[in-house]
Amino acid sequence: MFEFSQLIIERNQRPILDIPNLTLATDKLTVILGKNGSGKTTLMQCLARQLHPSKGCIRFKEKPLLGFSQRQLAQEIAFLPQSLSEAAGLTIRELVQLGRFPWHGTWGRWRQKDHDIVTQSLKQVGLSHYENQLVEEASGGEKQRAWIAMLLAQQSPVLLLDEPTSALDISHQYELLSLLQKLNRETGQGIIIILHDVNLAARYADRILAIDEGRCVFHGTVDDFMKKEQLESLYNIPMTLINHPENNTKVALAC
Ligand code: ADP
Repeated sequence: MFEFSQLIIERNQRPILDIPNLTLATDKLTVILGKNGSGKTTLMQCLARQLHPSKGCIRFKEKPLLGFSQRQLAQEIAFLPQSLSEAAGLTIRELVQLGRFPWHGTWGRWRQKDHDIVTQSLKQVGLSHYENQLVEEASGGEKQRAWIAMLLAQQSPVLLLDEPTSALDISHQYELLSLLQKLNRETGQGIIIILHDVNLAARYADRILAIDEGRCVFHGTVDDFMKKEQLESLYNIPMTLINHPENNTKVALAC
């Protein structure tokens, strides 16, 4: 688990994130929600150790995040940032192969197992037939799925994904979330993911973490989160909740 204590992130002398204490499970599927600019990406960058706290600290597996070497961290935590590099000159397969890097380093031997994991990761995101295509020539959605495959190939116990559905059509959004849920259930990998779609979150999350103006305003189950007043206060617009006609869940509508 991640344990926050007195965490403060400042940018340009302005506090962006202020989380006195929070424990985030690393064996569940947690979705981070909140308006634009609320601090979701900043929080995710702290978990991935891309940003260092101005005050306080985050512990992972009871050890300060700063105590992990870069390689140890990559073996524990795989991070997909919001803006993906062009990966110029690489084919989709070559990009996905980079996910194996933390396990054997630059000069390590490439084994059949690595090859199989890459093949499996490409299959999981539906890109097997595109493996020889250049990443720079792929569509936005294919590129995003190629990066997700790289993340899967890393096989770290914890996956952090910052808006991985932004370029995906609705069917690929649901496919991705259902794949992540399946991985969580079958391999025990913990998933922490930033989404904008409340209903996608409600359909797949075990836990919701809601951030507003740099503060954690909700952390708990989907049932406890899907309340009219809570959603209205988080997004500042009138909302209606209806019962899904085919399953026992709530659907949020902006009105
Ligand atoms: P979200 O992911 O919820 O949209 P962010 O974490 O990206 O929000 O941003 C939170 C706040 O931090 C915003 O007010 C944003 O303008 C500010 N911010 C983000 N990145 C930087 C930066 N590199 N320098 C200064 N301020 C930043």
